[in-house]
Amino acid sequence: MEVFIIGGGASGLVSGIIAARNGANVTILEKNSKCGRKLLLTGAGRSNFWNSKMDIDCYYSSNKEIFKEIFNSKKDFVLDFFKSLGLVYKVNNGYYYPFSNQSTSILNVLLNELQVLNVKIKTSEYVLKIEKKDKFYIYTNNNRYTADKVILAMGSKASIKEADSNIYDLVTSLGHTVNKVLPSLVKLKGEGNFYKDIKGVRSEVILSLYVDKEFKKEEYGEVLFTEDGISGICTFNLSGIVSRSLNKKMESEIAINFVPWFKGDNHELKEFIKDLYTKQKHTIEGILEGFLNYKIVNLLLKLTKLDKEKNLDNEKLDKLVRLLRDFRIKIIGTNGLLEAQVATGGVPLEEINPKTMSSLKTKGLYLVGEILDVDGICGGYNLGFAWLTGLIAGESVKND
Ligand SMILES: Cc1cc2nc3c(=O)[nH]c(=O)nc-3n(C[C@H](O)[C@H](O)[C@H](O)COP(=O)(O)OP(=O)(O)OC[C@H]3O[C@@H](n4cnc5c(N)ncnc54)[C@H](O)[C@@H]3O)c2cc1C
Repeated sequence: MEVFIIGGGASGLVSGIIAARNGANVTILEKNSKCGRKLLLTGAGRSNFWNSKMDIDCYYSSNKEIFKEIFNSKKDFVLDFFKSLGLVYKVNNGYYYPFSNQSTSILNVLLNELQVLNVKIKTSEYVLKIEKKDKFYIYTNNNRYTADKVILAMGSKASIKEADSNIYDLVTSLGHTVNKVLPSLVKLKGEGNFYKDIKGVRSEVILSLYVDKEFKKEEYGEVLFTEDGISGICTFNLSGIVSRSLNKKMESEIAINFVPWFKGDNHELKEFIKDLYTKQKHTIEGILEGFLNYKIVNLLLKLTKLDKEKNLDNEKLDKLVRLLRDFRIKIIGTNGLLEAQVATGGVPLEEINPKTMSSLKTKGLYLVGEILDVDGICGGYNLGFAWLTGLIAGESVKND
């Protein structure tokens, strides 16, 4: 049986190994001159490829029930699979990395195994058209191929130039639909013109997301201020919800709590500041610098107008406490798909069989990885989904 895999990324390489281990003749067609371009970028070149807390709630999908079925069927096999390839890994705070700290380790163990299994890897082969008749006819920029089964492992439009991609045209030409594709794990742009004053500052905070005034989700961690908004892992982890909400013309607001260490209420926070001010004769600036970056301090003093005053005005102190606890940013956009790590949206899970990853629209076709409407938060979840779906499709393609 001739199995062709379109895309030599995370999910394509894994499905190729499993299909070949099960006796299929496998060919991988990759448009780039090398496989695994995105895989090499992951985890800032270290590849955070899995997480010890693989939880369904760490993912968004338009259909949680079907997602659950996919997720639970092969979750316990992923680490054994990588061990079988000789990958040595380590775990930092639940995040899995190759022991070498280099994503090349993951790519190389996959490529080595593919070579041992005699899988043909054809690079610089841009698949332009796929026709399904008695068999599949695959047209690339160079060749025409014939296949019994095809696995689509083309990823998403995140982090690639728009003109560089025909992923969704190919999949719709084979009878599928595509849920609106939007950026996720991406920087957010905020309203206001104060960002230049605090650009580059990192601060440990709680971010709370409100959509149309309703609380949606909160994240604890480091926020990084950019020239026009916010970045960092906790921002990324809220960005998918923001993208989808903005797309529906809903209003997104993020509240920053700059004092996550303070467990009392606003009144107690006010008393804490007042106490240092009146009893210990500290300046407001000095008090704030005890726990905040000086650029944030300057911004807060400017916004409360406490920078110009010697005396502590009660109303201004109330405002300061509010800003420390609930600094609101209206989100007006994201940095877009090109800068996003993943896409939210894609082929709806209702169009595949979760037991096999086979298409319910075209017989003999399989879909794996990010092309599907599933996206995870930071922490190895997106590669995790690529491995899981690659394992399922690779196993079923020969027998299905
Ligand atoms: C900067 C960055 C950092 C990231 N860090 C992490 C991380 O630490 N942990 C994590 O879990 N996830 C991370 N991700 C997300 C992760 O990389 C993806 O979710 C994952 O690679 C998706 O795997 P995939 O196989 O679906 O797609 P991809 O890995 O994107 O592979 C798709 C392949 O198909 C090829 N292709 C597309 N169209 C065609 C065509 N027409 N013909 C031939 N070939 C085609 C592409 O060139 C590509 O090689 C990161 C992403 C980015 C951009």
